[in-house]
Amino acid sequence: MRSYVIAFVVLAAVLLVAAVALLAPRLRRRPPEPAPPPEAAPTPVAQPAEAEAPMIEAPVIEAPVIEAPVIERPEPTAGRLVRLRARLARSQNVFGKGLLALLARDKLDDETWDEVEETLITADVGVAATRAIVDRLRERAKVMGTDSAAGLRQMLTDELVDALDPDLDRTVAATPHDGRPAVVLVVGVNGSGKTTTCGKIARVLIADGHTVVLGAADTFRAAAADQLATWAGRVGAEVVRGPEGADPASVAFEAVKRGIHAGVDSVLVDTAGRLQNKVGLMDELGKVKRVVEKHGPVDETLLVLDATTGQNGLEQARVFTEVVNVTGVVLTKLDGTAKGGIVIAVQRQLGIPVKLVGLGEGPDDLAPFDPAQFVDALLGGDA
Ligand code: GDP
Repeated sequence: MRSYVIAFVVLAAVLLVAAVALLAPRLRRRPPEPAPPPEAAPTPVAQPAEAEAPMIEAPVIEAPVIEAPVIERPEPTAGRLVRLRARLARSQNVFGKGLLALLARDKLDDETWDEVEETLITADVGVAATRAIVDRLRERAKVMGTDSAAGLRQMLTDELVDALDPDLDRTVAATPHDGRPAVVLVVGVNGSGKTTTCGKIARVLIADGHTVVLGAADTFRAAAADQLATWAGRVGAEVVRGPEGADPASVAFEAVKRGIHAGVDSVLVDTAGRLQNKVGLMDELGKVKRVVEKHGPVDETLLVLDATTGQNGLEQARVFTEVVNVTGVVLTKLDGTAKGGIVIAVQRQLGIPVKLVGLGEGPDDLAPFDPAQFVDALLGGDA
């Protein structure tokens, strides 16, 4: 029985080995396990072609910073002459103090009157005007028997104010009428302050609630149009300009046309101011006026005069009055001269009212001219 068991075990072992031998090759030939699926690929998204393209850095274009223009509020014109009085008085000190010192002398003899005359002439009042002023002053002093300094000072004040024709109309015709803008031509030699004055007048008008177009008809001085545009930009006025060297008359014409079309209140035309003794150039100014007048009459022609040029400036001014009908004078740079008497000479010799005075380079340093305030400032105003 035991031998049967052993035989059975051996047989089972043999069978097991045989089975393993048979199955082993099959097991070895089993196809390899399928490779695990690759990691989930990202869902293809339609990519723009350039996403695959090599990175080329785009130049950084900085958007221009557009700053809202800061529109200035010009100072009101009322009281400007008073405000600028100190500036005027500073440069007039010699004149005013000198005159008052002479009149304060104990004895007003011929010699003293001669000195008064000399002082006035030195201050650019002009010979004829000086004679007239001193003669009247002497006469009044004699008749009234005044020899007090205060009395004489008052008389001198009266005479100077009188010499400035205080009743003349000094309004600048720069406001619209008959449904069209007022047209103002600004003329004068280069450097007198024309462009600056145009800018200052535009500010005054805008301060008073008017709308303004500026015409840059000084096409010969390269910087003039830019200068005018800067002035205009500060107060929100429009500028009409042409290319450099353009025909000034055509720019002036376009400016007025634009002003009429836009329905503004005033058109200010800055003109070329080359030396007036060149006949051709002055003819040109005449042409500007004629061409502008195709739109209607010019309302105001302002002659800008540099107060520091004295009698020489007066000679130049005369030529302008022959070419265009000057209706008012703007005397600039009064802050820079001790010869304020030029105002009297200008008005008397040209017979044209001084309407505005320039008392500095600042944007609001332009004042309506007032004879009484001016004379007060001229004499020092401390009485
Ligand atoms: P334009 O050639 O006649 O147009 O003259 P500008 O307007 O360019 O002025 C010439 C120079 O005079 C500039 O430097 C101005 O700033 C200066 N100017 C104008 N008006 C006055 C003024 O009233 N006082 C002073 N001190 N300078 C002034």
